[in-house]
Amino acid sequence: MSARVALVTGASRGIGRAIASELAGAGHRVACCASSEAAKETQAEIEAGGGTALAVRADVGDADAVDAAFGEIESTWGPVEILVNNAGITADGLIARMSDEHWNDVLRTNLTGAFHTIRRATPKMMRGRWGRIVNVSSVSGQAGAPGQANYAAAKAGLLGLSRSIARELAPRGITCNVVAPGPIVTAMTDAMPADWRAVMEATVPLGRLGSPEEVAAVVAFLCSEPAGYVTGALVPVDGGLGMGH
Ligand code: NAP
Repeated sequence: MSARVALVTGASRGIGRAIASELAGAGHRVACCASSEAAKETQAEIEAGGGTALAVRADVGDADAVDAAFGEIESTWGPVEILVNNAGITADGLIARMSDEHWNDVLRTNLTGAFHTIRRATPKMMRGRWGRIVNVSSVSGQAGAPGQANYAAAKAGLLGLSRSIARELAPRGITCNVVAPGPIVTAMTDAMPADWRAVMEATVPLGRLGSPEEVAAVVAFLCSEPAGYVTGALVPVDGGLGMGH
């Protein structure tokens, strides 16, 4: 498999950190993006394991910051060939009480952030006639979730974005797919109410929460050479939770 230049957003912890490690383990050079300095820990972890990584700091909702991060990666390694949009936040609340701020923040990070990185990455992918884009959605994007109208709307939006990109860029050898995790053990789910985990374990057909590494393995496959005939796909990694959606 060719070594490529990869960018993973939201790579400072959780699923994004596992994706960055998995891609580095596959031999790629991996830029690890977060809005804080914490992606440096992921860089250090990858380097300690013999991989090649670069921490870049950018709020994905800020197009100028995204542009600057790409500039840093390009001057270090060259164009980004693998892009994984994983950065995401929640700001849950019932719709009648959801503030404009909570709506806009979630759309800005989870959906507009992916638009910013894809717009910045794809001209050079087109020139190279090769690219892999994976957008990390959620089972909530298909099934909906009470209290998560903003989050589910953003995650559903990623599917329309991805399938449009998949069609638009297929002639240039660029694939774009969506991975939709179910409940995964990370800081995001640690913040859920105490009884949530028990309800999930009872509801998920496989009877447990997933691990970041189980999501990362699927993302890494979609980024690989052998996945070249897969585009516009929605791949659930959810223990069977979303069956039927
Ligand atoms: P997490 O532990 O909260 O990590 C989120 C990551 O996103 C962090 O690295 C965070 O870093 C980064 N981030 C947040 N806002 C950002 C911004 N504006 N710009 C750049 N980076 C930003 O979450 P996770 O559970 O690993 O989730 C990762 C992705 O999977 C998210 O898109 C989430 O919606 C999705 N997902 C998760 C689950 C689950 O059960 N955990 C289920 C379905 C889907 P900084 O805070 O340092 O910026």
